[in-house]
Amino acid sequence: MGNIYVIEDEVNIRELIKIALEGFGYQVSAFENAEDAMDAMKEDLPSLMIFDRMLPGMDGVTAIRKIRSGSLCPQVPIMILTAKDKEIDKVSGLDGGADDYMTKPFGILELAARVRSLLRRSSGQKEQEKNIVTIGRLEWNFRTREVWFDKKLLELTYKEYELLQYLWKNQDRVVSREELLDSVWGYEYDGETRTLDIHVRTLRQKLGESGQEYIKTVRGVGYRFVGGKE
Ligand code: CA
Repeated sequence: MGNIYVIEDEVNIRELIKIALEGFGYQVSAFENAEDAMDAMKEDLPSLMIFDRMLPGMDGVTAIRKIRSGSLCPQVPIMILTAKDKEIDKVSGLDGGADDYMTKPFGILELAARVRSLLRRSSGQKEQEKNIVTIGRLEWNFRTREVWFDKKLLELTYKEYELLQYLWKNQDRVVSREELLDSVWGYEYDGETRTLDIHVRTLRQKLGESGQEYIKTVRGVGYRFVGGKE
């Protein structure tokens, strides 16, 4: 996830926003004008942009229009800051393609809450659009039951997929062999634990050289999936 871009010509407000958002754990890049920010976007795409409306050179609304109609990151969530609180200004700010606005002066807690909500909304949209979740080197499409490892589609059998998903979902703990057999095989389980070992072995093979690392054997207990955290 890229930085939050803050574009504000008033140094005090710029620094205040930067320090405040950094205090909430975000990475922030601050710019005095829209032109510099748009240059920087070519190198590093922002996860969210906070534009002051009145800027020297290109104003915030024009910059937002350009970003929305451009090809770099037209979907980036954008908040506009405006010193004016007349209804007409809010409307034209949102018209330019901003997702949200705040009028100055504003409280830092409110700013942080809105930033959080914009980021959450945008990551939710992305997941919905693609239906794909990326975790570490694994990508999942839970709807089509496809899994990619290092961008390579894994050809998994039904049970291998179930097994991988179960281990992955429970990766904060060791999953016992009994639990795996019960959850993945259920009533089909005939007391033959060898089935499980064979599936784990083929699954590891399909994950390639990292297979052994990703699915750890915890001797005497069961298996644990590691390394797939966000
Ligand atoms: Ca300004």
